[in-house]
Amino acid sequence: MNAQDRTDAFAWLETNQENMVADLIELANQNSGSDNLNGLLAVADWLEDWFGIHPAVLHRIPLPPRRMVADHGGTTIVETGPALRWDFQPNNPRRVLIAIHYDTVYGLDHPFQTCHRLTNDRLGGPGVADAKGGIVVLRYALQALLRFSLANDCGWTVLLNPDEEVGSNSSNQVMQDMAADFDFGLLLEPCLPNGEFVSHRKGSGNFTMVIHGRSAHAGRDFHQGRNAVAKLCSLLSEIDQWNGLRSGLTINVGRVVGGGPVNVVPDLAVGRFNVRLEDKESEIWLEQKLQSLMATANQAEGFRCELHGNISSPAKPITDQSKQIMIGIEESARELGQVVSWRSTGGVCDGNKLAAAGLPNIDTLGPLGDGLHSAQEWVQVSSLVAKSKLLVEILSRFSSGRLESLERSKLTNT
Ligand SMILES: [Zn+2]
Repeated sequence: MNAQDRTDAFAWLETNQENMVADLIELANQNSGSDNLNGLLAVADWLEDWFGIHPAVLHRIPLPPRRMVADHGGTTIVETGPALRWDFQPNNPRRVLIAIHYDTVYGLDHPFQTCHRLTNDRLGGPGVADAKGGIVVLRYALQALLRFSLANDCGWTVLLNPDEEVGSNSSNQVMQDMAADFDFGLLLEPCLPNGEFVSHRKGSGNFTMVIHGRSAHAGRDFHQGRNAVAKLCSLLSEIDQWNGLRSGLTINVGRVVGGGPVNVVPDLAVGRFNVRLEDKESEIWLEQKLQSLMATANQAEGFRCELHGNISSPAKPITDQSKQIMIGIEESARELGQVVSWRSTGGVCDGNKLAAAGLPNIDTLGPLGDGLHSAQEWVQVSSLVAKSKLLVEILSRFSSGRLESLERSKLTNT
């Protein structure tokens, strides 16, 4: 890589800071809550136009709908937008997967719908950090790489998915199928508010328990009834007792629905809980505990107890492979005078799924921001440029062979 080209690329990014902000405002002002199909489609169309940087080849991948257990105990189906995939220089043996989501947690009914410049260096708005800011960082970084010919000896694929905020159930298979084709992955989730990157992530899964009992008149036939609400409560309070039985294990019973008039024994109750855990062993432990709990529950005459869900995002430990990427990122950042430090978190993202599918990755290369998933969400404007530079540096280094240790054949666990 030519040193002058690199300097010119960074200068070009700096002069584009306000263009990045303008693009981000346009992108974030279009609602794309995970359940807002029309909004997702509008953003997908917008991205298709805006992201189509020559000579990328776009694939618009239709995704299956998301199936959810509804509060009435049956299944509801929610349609989602397409996954967008662009392949750049696809015949190059060095290949990086760069991924981020284009949905947000803000539905159409949420009061937070538009961006506001809070200070010169802060932009508030829905998804400005998580993760539309990451999409803008990525797009400008790729433009700089191509414009200044900084990554001619590596190829990369961009994957934007529409359902990360609801667990990526629809796009998971696409990610699983792609994982083996790349040396490593970079995801543009925001870094932590103090600038730290995420190393280890816990695993997470959502579960829904559906209890079918038997309805009866609470006065005349109480003993004929099988109280689904009482059964659900006893099962959930047992599960709550498992908190802390394994290191780092948390179980949050988050929602309970059931029953009606209090003179009727309720025949249906639905409970929902989220589990976070540290490792594969805890996942196996939990599965066994849940299986045996449900088996016992179903032995009770007159009840039918169902459990839906799984640990959809397995824990993402630090491996020898991910350590190599961390070192590569640290070296690249140092060159730019940027500091990198690392922290574990209980939060999950698609980085968990890709790692579990065999693609080592680092997932917090997006901009700095805070207040995620709330009406206080903001992004640091200057970090849009800084993170674009970092991505340019990483990819141009990888392209020039200076991050050889990140090639898949060398990223073996030792
Ligand atoms: Zn996110």
